[in-house]
Amino acid sequence: MTTAKKVKVRFAPSPTGDLHVGNIRTALFDWAYARHTGGTFLFRIEDTDTTRVTDEYIQAAIDTLKWLGLQWDEGPEVGGDNGPYLQSQRLGIYAEWAQKFLDQGDAYYCYCSPEELEAVREEQRKANVAPGYNGHCRELTADQITAFKAQGREGVVRMRMPDGTTTFTDEIRGDVTFDHKFVPDFVLVRADGSPLYTLAVAVDDILMGVTHVLRGEDLLSSTPRQIRVYQAMGVKIEDYPVFAHLPFVMGQDNAKLSKRNGEVSIAWYREQGYLPEAICNYLALLGWSPGDDRENISMKELTELFTVEKVHSSPARFDMKKLEAINGDKIRALSLEEFATWTMPFLIKAGVITGTDAEIELVKKALPLIQERIVKLDEAPQLLKFLFIEKFAVDGDAVSKISDAAAKDILKRSLADLEGVASWNHESIEAVLRASLIEELGLKPRIAFTALRIATTGSTISPPLFESMELLGKEACLARITQALSL
Ligand code: GLU
Repeated sequence: MTTAKKVKVRFAPSPTGDLHVGNIRTALFDWAYARHTGGTFLFRIEDTDTTRVTDEYIQAAIDTLKWLGLQWDEGPEVGGDNGPYLQSQRLGIYAEWAQKFLDQGDAYYCYCSPEELEAVREEQRKANVAPGYNGHCRELTADQITAFKAQGREGVVRMRMPDGTTTFTDEIRGDVTFDHKFVPDFVLVRADGSPLYTLAVAVDDILMGVTHVLRGEDLLSSTPRQIRVYQAMGVKIEDYPVFAHLPFVMGQDNAKLSKRNGEVSIAWYREQGYLPEAICNYLALLGWSPGDDRENISMKELTELFTVEKVHSSPARFDMKKLEAINGDKIRALSLEEFATWTMPFLIKAGVITGTDAEIELVKKALPLIQERIVKLDEAPQLLKFLFIEKFAVDGDAVSKISDAAAKDILKRSLADLEGVASWNHESIEAVLRASLIEELGLKPRIAFTALRIATTGSTISPPLFESMELLGKEACLARITQALSL
């Protein structure tokens, strides 16, 4: 990629919902490219569609980027020389440029009503020609304009698209050419005076000094329109940003992931207990590879290795299993202290603990037992709740497994043996139970210990049994086994 100028990359979402996997993959690549080149990462909020963008979504977008560790150098909260970074605060700038385009004859007022435009589209459909504006208002006379206004019509500002083609070099796709037959005159400003995306994005990329536009492939077809705006602004070709359109992220079923699909929102992954570093690691591999087949990549490595040359042009497929595996790896790589910091809010939210010092101390003792096992942090409450519940109860579906005579015998025998254990630690608990249940009675470990697991933790799934019993304490274990015997 051309890097003669100091690189400035921007992430420019329109927060009409929570940011989703596709947005974040774009943000991540933008960030990584800026960091790799020692350039600037600019964050801009494209909120001109006031009917769909809300303050909550804007704040959520800001929080999500921070949570992921994708810190920006220019943008909301941090400021910069090219602000404001919310397009809703830049409306005067777009209005001035639109007026300039009108004055230059690059743009014109169009008075066609939505119904008339729809009728044209209908004709086009019937005639099997490419749909789009037919240039009806391109050359209106002063009298015609007066007449339209007298009818109470409000004009939109439309950009004149000359005949011909636009070709640009996309850093991922190579040369891309658009025939203007398929790029009709487009609206820059609505009748209410509000700017459209194409105007605002192009003006801002130029005014903010953006050198590289790395964004989703869905925006490829808007590029010739943006280039048209650059031309009308009088920007020299060598000052156009470089474009690189990132491949689509497809769902597992090959359907396109979309913002409307709640499951792909990053907020959802966060609630499930995915670590930001796992999400970034996984998303980095969606459409890019470091050049070898490694799958565990730190943020630092990503910034060192990320180049646009290594971005693929074919769509990437989202693979939940792979994300889970990476998340599990990242959880295991945490220090106990970090793991505790990440897990505590999940335990509190689930009502397992309230956060007292005594609880935290016990959680920290229990965490090593689950760190090797879980793939998502939200598994922790279910696995650790047995240590904290005041009124012990066996999970409904596990009750039947300890109700038969064989299970009762196991529990009775265990109760008697455990009463005699003087120093209550997992080694002695295990030694006593193995000697009596496995060696003496000849039971299969799975059968013997499942009954005990259910009786002491209330579930068939728990951290390692003897360690769990040690943490639970002798008194509680004996009381629970007694209670289980009465079921
Ligand atoms: N605001 C646009 C969107 O969220 C993206 C702008 C761009 O990257 O050019 O779809």
